[in-house]
Amino acid sequence: MLEIKDLHVSYGGIQALRGVSLNVPDGKIVTLIGANGAGKSTALSLIAGENAPQSGKILRFGAHTRGYDARIAWLVQDVRALFMKQTVEDDLFDFFDDKKMPDAEKRARVDRVIRLWGLEALLDRHPYDLSGGEMQRAALAKVLLAEPRLLLLDEPTKGLDAAFKTQLAGILAKLRADGVAILMVTHDLDFCAAYADRVALVFDGAVASE
Ligand code: ATP
Repeated sequence: MLEIKDLHVSYGGIQALRGVSLNVPDGKIVTLIGANGAGKSTALSLIAGENAPQSGKILRFGAHTRGYDARIAWLVQDVRALFMKQTVEDDLFDFFDDKKMPDAEKRARVDRVIRLWGLEALLDRHPYDLSGGEMQRAALAKVLLAEPRLLLLDEPTKGLDAAFKTQLAGILAKLRADGVAILMVTHDLDFCAAYADRVALVFDGAVASE
């Protein structure tokens, strides 16, 4: 569960957020739509704990915690930032680098996301050499290894063809049924109309309507 209230943040002279408030209950998909520069990605970065707001409240799982939280996964807008290793397969295992887990469990989780995202033929490729859509699939696979309770997605359908969009919709529906709170930034209004429980329109650093 996520609750944010009256978030303000500015970068130098630019007021990126001027009072964003929003709730994402467990088991719901809430989307943020709005023009370039409206403040959508900035809102996600505050929720993920990457940046701190100048003022306002962020309640994650009912608590005012700050910073990294293993229950939160964030698909950033430029997914290149998520890749750390020389091959797609090593990169998936990279997710477990700082986590104590039996090797068999790591392998099982990795194999599951490989199958889910059809990554079999891409495992030996360098993540940066993939096409836009392939890169997006590898990134979604890595993010979902976290098995999060709060999932933040910045333009998740970017580059995905129709079949993988449907695949993504199915995965989101399952996470939603499992009670995961999902906050998605998107410019894909068809996807939003088909799968979101609520849509918030961000305009000029605030939620203009929901
Ligand atoms: P888009 O749809 O293009 O992704 P957005 O709604 O996600 O846009 P943000 O990326 O949150 O918008 O940007 C909001 C404002 O803050 C913009 O004016 C942007 O230029 C500015 N901004 C964002 N990050 C930074 C930063 N690190 N330093 C300076 N300005 C920034």
